[in-house]
Amino acid sequence: MKHFPIFLAVEGRGIVLSGGGDAALAKLRLLLKTEGRITVFAASPAPEIENWAAEGRLTLKRRPLAPGDTRDAALFYAADEDEAEDARTSAIARTDGALVNIVDNLEDSQFITPAIVDRDPVTVAIGTEGAAPVLARSIKADLEARLPATLGRLARIGKAFRKAVEVLPMGRRRRDFWADFYFNEGPRALEDGGEVQVNNALQTLLSKYENASDREGHVAFVGAGPGDPELLTLKARKALDAADVVIHDRLVTPEILELARREAVLVNAGKEGFGPAMTQEEINALITHHAAQGAQVVRLKGGDPTVFGRLDEEIEAVEAAGITWHIVPGITAASASVASIGQSLTQRGRNASARILTGHDMKGFADHDWQALARPGEVAAIYMGKRAARFIQGRLIMHGAARGTPVTVIENASRPDQRVIGTSLDQLSQDLDAAKVTGPALLVYGLNPRAAQAQILHNKQELA
Ligand code: SAH
Repeated sequence: MKHFPIFLAVEGRGIVLSGGGDAALAKLRLLLKTEGRITVFAASPAPEIENWAAEGRLTLKRRPLAPGDTRDAALFYAADEDEAEDARTSAIARTDGALVNIVDNLEDSQFITPAIVDRDPVTVAIGTEGAAPVLARSIKADLEARLPATLGRLARIGKAFRKAVEVLPMGRRRRDFWADFYFNEGPRALEDGGEVQVNNALQTLLSKYENASDREGHVAFVGAGPGDPELLTLKARKALDAADVVIHDRLVTPEILELARREAVLVNAGKEGFGPAMTQEEINALITHHAAQGAQVVRLKGGDPTVFGRLDEEIEAVEAAGITWHIVPGITAASASVASIGQSLTQRGRNASARILTGHDMKGFADHDWQALARPGEVAAIYMGKRAARFIQGRLIMHGAARGTPVTVIENASRPDQRVIGTSLDQLSQDLDAAKVTGPALLVYGLNPRAAQAQILHNKQELA
């Protein structure tokens, strides 16, 4: 972050702008929303500026800025759209100790003005450090559409009520009260009968929450998907929004953890490499401990929690503690991996079944029905198969699998650093070693990337 976003107190403080043209107008439209004291220096100001001056909304000086004019200013905008003049005025302001912004000159500015979504007192500032103004505009448009126009009014009424709400115990009950107000009761009351109605609704809601007992703890076993935050389900998003505690494994990406409620406690129960960071018993104890204290616990697992997720052991522990739970499915690595190579897991006429296998189980390399897998046309998604690759390769070839059977390795499926390594059964362990795969990787046995397959068909036809 080259620019740190803050909200500056400007009530009653000086804001000075030099310039009278389009750039000045654009900035003034924003500045007039503030409670700062605005002074404009312009030898020939646009008519809008004259009108604002006539209305008493700003002070207009019809002359160029001179030394001393910015002595009491907190902020200064150089908006003459003239390099030499901007340099002159900004030097004066800097000497006077004001923070300086030169319009369209990021380099020499001490601060920049973000795109603003205004639901005063709720304001959203969007900045891209000058990298992508188009992006800032489209984010602004999204937020404008998403945030109800009444939000500001509700926040103002709510603010006056904050003291009264202190009768509720701090923490979840108080949070639930406010969420209920801003998203349910408040908007409804405002629509029905204006501010009076909103104040009534606040009173009613408060007595309801005063009499409510604390919610019970609960555990949601949530699939985080393969890594891309956009592959989270809406239910997963909601669970993260409501979580008090998020206990996640190593596969869950930082981008997804970012989405957890800001106050949520994040616990990494992941295992680094093959050294366990926390035993299963410790994880079970951690989950039940938090839920027993009334927390909404999200047990966040990479992919789908029902696939190689040791889910049942955790459910049993939670049940034994008499805690309620539910499962939110996620997109498993196999789905994301075949999608990334443009293939489907099953195909009419090719394979009527696909297997989900692990390369490793509790005893080491996992054993499977190799004979069945070795038959032509079989497809298997092999999880945790990196280290077991040589073993798997040997078993399959021993049981008669064709050496040229395609195998595709997908590392970091759905993530920015995704890699696809197309190989064949007899080259598998060699190619895996050469590729130095360090991220989570899935072996898709029996499938090529679609493009490679098309190329092979093409070559065959050329040869024929
Ligand atoms: N519950 C998870 C699987 C957990 S087992 C799921 O449904 O996806 C861990 C294994 O999953 C890893 O060793 C790897 O084989 C696979 N895996 C998980 N995320 C992956 C990803 N983004 N890309 C490739 N493989 C992944």
